[in-house]
Amino acid sequence: MSAPPVFDRAEAQRLAQDVYGLSLTIERLPGERDSNFLGRTDSGRNYVLKIIDAGADPLGADCQVRVLQHLAEQDPSLAVPRHSATVDGSDFGAFNRDGQSLSSCLLSFLPGRPLAETAAGECRLENVGEVIARMDRALQGFFHPALAQHLAWDIRRLPALRDSCQYIETADLRGPVEHVIGVLQERLPRLRALRAQAIHGDCHGGNVLIGGAGDVCGIVDFGDMIHAPVIFEPAVAMSELLTEGVVTDPAALSPLLEGYARLATLDGAEVDLLYDLITARHATTIVLHAWRGRHDPAGAALLEEAASRAAASLDGLLRLGPVALSREWHRVAGTGAPAGASIDLARRHRLLGAGAELFYDKPLHLVRGEGVWLYDAAGSAYLDGYNNVPHVGHCHPHVARAIARQTAVLATHTRYLHESILRYAERLLAGCPPHLDACIFVNSGSEANDVAWRMAQLATGHAGAVIMAHAYHGITEAVAALTPGAGESHDPRVVTLAPPPAGISAGDMMAASLQRAATADIERALHALMERGLAPGAFFLDTALTSSGIYDPPTEWAELLTSRIRAAGGLIIADEVQYGLGRSGSHFWGFERRGIVPDIVTLGKPLGNGYPMGAVLANRRMIEAFQRKFGFFSTFGGNPVAAAAGLAVLEVIERERLRENAAATGAYLRAGLERLAAAHPALGAVRGSGLLLGLEVLAEDAAAAKSLTHKIVNALAAGSRILIGSEGPAANILKIRPPLAFRPEHADLMIEAIGRAAATAREGA
Ligand code: PMP
Repeated sequence: MSAPPVFDRAEAQRLAQDVYGLSLTIERLPGERDSNFLGRTDSGRNYVLKIIDAGADPLGADCQVRVLQHLAEQDPSLAVPRHSATVDGSDFGAFNRDGQSLSSCLLSFLPGRPLAETAAGECRLENVGEVIARMDRALQGFFHPALAQHLAWDIRRLPALRDSCQYIETADLRGPVEHVIGVLQERLPRLRALRAQAIHGDCHGGNVLIGGAGDVCGIVDFGDMIHAPVIFEPAVAMSELLTEGVVTDPAALSPLLEGYARLATLDGAEVDLLYDLITARHATTIVLHAWRGRHDPAGAALLEEAASRAAASLDGLLRLGPVALSREWHRVAGTGAPAGASIDLARRHRLLGAGAELFYDKPLHLVRGEGVWLYDAAGSAYLDGYNNVPHVGHCHPHVARAIARQTAVLATHTRYLHESILRYAERLLAGCPPHLDACIFVNSGSEANDVAWRMAQLATGHAGAVIMAHAYHGITEAVAALTPGAGESHDPRVVTLAPPPAGISAGDMMAASLQRAATADIERALHALMERGLAPGAFFLDTALTSSGIYDPPTEWAELLTSRIRAAGGLIIADEVQYGLGRSGSHFWGFERRGIVPDIVTLGKPLGNGYPMGAVLANRRMIEAFQRKFGFFSTFGGNPVAAAAGLAVLEVIERERLRENAAATGAYLRAGLERLAAAHPALGAVRGSGLLLGLEVLAEDAAAAKSLTHKIVNALAAGSRILIGSEGPAANILKIRPPLAFRPEHADLMIEAIGRAAATAREGA
């Protein structure tokens, strides 16, 4: 390092006048590389005048000026120095002194105390994080060739310092430092995969200035800027706070990261590496100090205190280990599990009501999902064999990105023109029979059924409804009447049909006796309506017959019922909330598998992969009659974000051939379950098709079967971390309804675990 050019105050004052046209009162400021002066005008404006070392890299100096110009343009109120041009408009003043060509640069002076000189608690670390993040955001578009500068402090270069470990005096310190270097070496490929940009790179406590209220009032010294992973920025700041002694407990650094993440989004992969980067920065301080001790004693003296604190702090960090700190950092950065894994049930009951349902004897606290996997707060993975809302897989990146992109652009409603809801409607309708040619968009399956029911009553003038026993169609007042639960509907306008014949499935012939029984049942139901002075307005059919017990009857069954309903003037409403979008495996729509052509189709759960959506598909004339009569507008239904989510889901289904997968994996799973059932006395018939399957649980009576089912479901969740549910009027059917990303290898895990759980639950019964 060359010494700063020797300049006195009178010379500096003359220079300010000649080059910048400013009359300044001058004081000297410290500087490692340059000669720095504080200049004050009569009106009280303060400047820093830098006389730049003749040996300094002109590219580096240029970078420092350009970055300040960039920041002034991108975030004018950011607390960084402002650069002033010379009287002739140049970025630098250029002059000769004693045959040396020197240059000068004039910046505004920022008041405040260095963060390094404040005591713990005197400054708001959260605000430090926020200001640094704001700066990094403004730096995103900045580039300069000097950012490729080779800096010994660049954390990525730590492995190159390995040889200098020999200068570390005690083996007690050398060992841990070498360990940290080894870990960082291994991390380099992951570091190289992280997003990188121009960063300040040296937000230590000397470069961050704190004002009276404990808030940041300045960030200075842009001489160590590099192009590097953006996570280096908070990592350096956090590490330096420890080695400067401003913070002694690493756990107390969280507010800085929290503030940073509030203004600049961090990725899980970045936060994962934070601990290693902080320890690596500590190691860098220790090794550089040791090297300087041998080669640059004056430089070593400058690092003395930092190095000894780094040694103690590194010891503390290594003792703590990465797990607890990383968990907390993920929490504050919003990239991981919330801390305090256990949720107080009493609090939940108080806030949501004790009747708010929970699955499993030991309720799960899930914090993350990916594909067919769910993760709880302790980090354990669960195979999801139950959830159909994440139709294309939990948090599918294509859908998540589509939602994020649209929500950042426009989120209005259908009272304004918007292209993508039309494209979505076209895509949904493209695979439907031609008379289904228009849509109404709502926010849930219940709302879709509610609209469909009003539409059917209007179209037919009939007020009666036919549903299946134990049907589930939703929660509004109108459709709750179509959701009878255990008994008959409480609503006299609603009649219930018996479930299809057990033991036969799609593709089988329906014996004449079974056809006669089904005919008698529908006649009975229609007669019951007639006796109440009603005719059927609609027959609602969940095409998977899920809550009725998961049935997959031959097409004759539905044909027989629907023709009779139609003859009596009723419409056929296919509720595709469960079976739609390819779950049956054989068809995109469940009604196709049932062999029926519905008048209205209702949709919900899987449409948005978690974004709340519902839809009603019908003939345009019917929809227009409904609109004329009632007017209809749903604030969120069909909004641009919903359209983006819906389109993305359809794209993934097609691209990843998920219907085909439901067929193939469903068949594979079914075969496995049938093998289990053959081998196990407590397991009976397999029901359903594709990736909506039921497995009957058998016991001496209904109560015992229900209890055994409950035990198996809970043993699977708690013991094997495999999630399924129970279904059916007697709650004796294992319900398997995973995201369509479920593959044969997942089916293997499930089959094996169900076999084990059935055996143990039975033994314990
Ligand atoms: N129809 C069927 C067949 C359903 O399974 C459900 C939900 N379980 C609904 C309608 C109601 O949908 P949502 O909960 O979105 O209102």
